[in-house]
Amino acid sequence: MKNFKRFNIILLAIVLSLSLFGCGTNNSENTSVDSTDTPDKDKQQAQEEIYDVVVIGGGGAGLSAAIELKGAGANVVVLEKMSFLGGNTLISGGELNAPDTWIQEKLGIEDSIDQYKEDTLKGGDYKADEDLVTVLANNARNAMEWLRDEVNVSFKEDYLMQFGGHSVPRAAYPKGGSGNELIGKLVDKAEELNIPIKTRVKAEEILADDNGKVNKVVAVDEDGNEIVFKANKGVILATGGFGSNVEMRKQYNAEYDERYMSTDQPGTTGDGIIMAEELGAALVGMESIQTYPACSPETGVLSYVADTRFDGAVLVNKEGNRFVEELDRRDVISKAILDQTDAVGYLVWDTTIKEKSHMDNYMQEFEQLVKQGTLIKADKLEEAAEYFDINVEELKETIGKYNEYAVNGKDEDFNRRGEIVGLTKAPYYIQKVAPSVHHTMGGLKIDTQARVINNEGNPIPGLFAAGEVAGGIHGANRLGGNAITDIVVFGRIAAENVLK
Ligand code: ADP
Repeated sequence: MKNFKRFNIILLAIVLSLSLFGCGTNNSENTSVDSTDTPDKDKQQAQEEIYDVVVIGGGGAGLSAAIELKGAGANVVVLEKMSFLGGNTLISGGELNAPDTWIQEKLGIEDSIDQYKEDTLKGGDYKADEDLVTVLANNARNAMEWLRDEVNVSFKEDYLMQFGGHSVPRAAYPKGGSGNELIGKLVDKAEELNIPIKTRVKAEEILADDNGKVNKVVAVDEDGNEIVFKANKGVILATGGFGSNVEMRKQYNAEYDERYMSTDQPGTTGDGIIMAEELGAALVGMESIQTYPACSPETGVLSYVADTRFDGAVLVNKEGNRFVEELDRRDVISKAILDQTDAVGYLVWDTTIKEKSHMDNYMQEFEQLVKQGTLIKADKLEEAAEYFDINVEELKETIGKYNEYAVNGKDEDFNRRGEIVGLTKAPYYIQKVAPSVHHTMGGLKIDTQARVINNEGNPIPGLFAAGEVAGGIHGANRLGGNAITDIVVFGRIAAENVLK
């Protein structure tokens, strides 16, 4: 069964990408020539197109890189294998972290680059490359301002999210609470700049010249025609992670097998990692795979309705008991859910929490979950519990005790951080949730200039990587809101350095 919201977003993206497909081929500044170096006259000659830079992947990192490149006067093309642009950035919540921003200043929140850096390093179990985290932290505010000023992204001006592991609220919330705002605006900007974007064109191989400098991408279009994209300055890999590739997940960490669905779009198959490995690229942290705890047990799709967790919803099991702190790290909550009966958890909230949350932004998803049978709204808590066969007496006791904690301001069982909100106002809601694979922290080893590093520790000339395809930035665990910061910061850095 398809998630309705996601389906709608993808539909919108298909329309966007279709219009860009036309614009890409018509407005491109490339020189399109037929390759003459194949002696076999009978063989269909591969078409060759010539650019300064070829960007592989039309998600957040790829589009950010392409916009910077075009702004710097480079002739750039973006290749996207799917029929729609945006990758996982599109279906994400779109929030991004940065310290010392104009929104924090407005809200009177004290923060610093060092604090953000420390939270990120700690959140990744100190396994991240500190130099890369320093670059992320130093450039985060600038990335947010770039999105606002250059790309015209609208953020909620009087609100910041505080994801797990962050010491203060620092995640800006885009209009509508989805990656749609980011991708929509990045695509608008790319269109305005006449950047050729080729959807349904899959990069299959990266080639280097006799001196080892990367200079070509071999791709295939939807009709199976081979196209060679010549890259005079270099290639930027922005192909995302490998969360949808179960075989690759198992290869690097046997735990993340078929038992887990994925929140990722189906094109998240690790292509960039596989192609770069052929050129001797080094990999880092491949075993570090992140699950997201609150997804649909039916489809694996990440639930934004379940963001009520951040506003006070309580997580219980079928026996009606809490079993983990609701704001603990994603990996901790995910593992705890898998240990419960039926490997699921139940989020419980009331109308006070509903009103605090942004649930109204996600009513399409809400209705879809109700149809799916994974969400119930009821006048009485008992009624909602019975729908899922949750132990009613235990649940009432758990919520009664929790409501006392709310009055006293202290969660005696799991020491929940932040405000504790009592569940007293009908109607009540219960949502069944399960973890899904969400982000792959490992990937290509890069340096602070986004150059891909080979197994000898040297940069591969002409090859750059940005976004989820690169490893080392998030260590063993990525904190919420850090992926969007990562793709914008490193997408732009890759663009700057490929032209040097
Ligand atoms: P990031 O957040 O790092 O930008 P995304 O998942 O948002 O990653 O975007 C990555 C994009 O790259 C997706 O749209 C995906 O379909 C695309 N992609 C992956 N592999 C290829 C490939 N071989 N050729 C072209 N595009 C690819």
